[in-house]
Amino acid sequence: MSARPATTPNYQRVSDGEFRTRVEELWRRYADCDLCAYDCRVDRTTGETGTCRVDDTAYVSSYFDHHGEEDVLRGHNGSGTIFLAHCNMKCVFCQNFETSHEARGEPVTPEGIAKMALELQAQGCHNVNFVSPTHHSPHLVEAVRIARDRGLEIPIVWNCGGYERTEILELLDGVVDVYMPDVKWSDDAAAARYSKAPGYWSNIKGSLREMHRQVGDLDVDDKGLATGGLLVRHLVMPAHVESAKDVLSFVAEEISQNTFVNVMAQYRPHYKAKSEERYEAISRRITPEEYQSVIDHAREIGLERIEYDPTMTGEDGNGLLGW
Ligand code: SF4
Repeated sequence: MSARPATTPNYQRVSDGEFRTRVEELWRRYADCDLCAYDCRVDRTTGETGTCRVDDTAYVSSYFDHHGEEDVLRGHNGSGTIFLAHCNMKCVFCQNFETSHEARGEPVTPEGIAKMALELQAQGCHNVNFVSPTHHSPHLVEAVRIARDRGLEIPIVWNCGGYERTEILELLDGVVDVYMPDVKWSDDAAAARYSKAPGYWSNIKGSLREMHRQVGDLDVDDKGLATGGLLVRHLVMPAHVESAKDVLSFVAEEISQNTFVNVMAQYRPHYKAKSEERYEAISRRITPEEYQSVIDHAREIGLERIEYDPTMTGEDGNGLLGW
């Protein structure tokens, strides 16, 4: 892993005029919503809702210093996580369904979100980590602008499900420092069945290319903290080992062999996936053999920066491959 000195977050270099143009352009989208790949085209400013089931009011369910994220994000003081309520994906196995599907949260303005970001920075958090940001990107870009003007100087992490639109991502260019898409499937049929996201794989390939075009491979500073770049997550799903392998192959071959990929093993059948009757294939945990097979594949295709769970592969290592 290359270590570099701390760098200035991207948003410090965006001019006031450019920031305002981006915010206006994004805000306009609420009236004919195409903020994500669902492309619902509903007028959220009048109370209409699309698949994400929320109008143009943003809700935050919690914000805190999160010590459960990747080492490069949490460091010693935690990642400054801001959880947006609702989600633009409908995964039947959602681990945060109370927040994402049952919509628990308090209404917030961009000003309020900016205050949260500054509070997290004052606590020593190493970044501001927007979780499920896509359906409220207008609020969040405005919040970054306000917080920047009031002294925000830590990286912005876009922690999303990957069901984005390239046109919207282009409006985030220069605002986001670390893109962290959780790439869920390389199998459109599985994505439609389990995440209710038609065409997910075809879509996310373009999104990953655009994210990487903007921020490149993940950079870390001399303290081991992410300063910018692409961090891909993949949660290995039961009975979908080939889907996992195809995700990794695409990243290695089409994005960069130096992409940081966290291959996650912690899948549990939450929410609707508990129903063996409806979702039998994913109503169990993954086996060590399934996980091992995915990690072996990552090694074979030469991915250079993999974070994995050594307890699932029977190793004593630190769970980092190729660093
Ligand atoms: S953000 Fe919500 S309303 Fe807009 S396109 Fe996506 S799911 Fe539909």
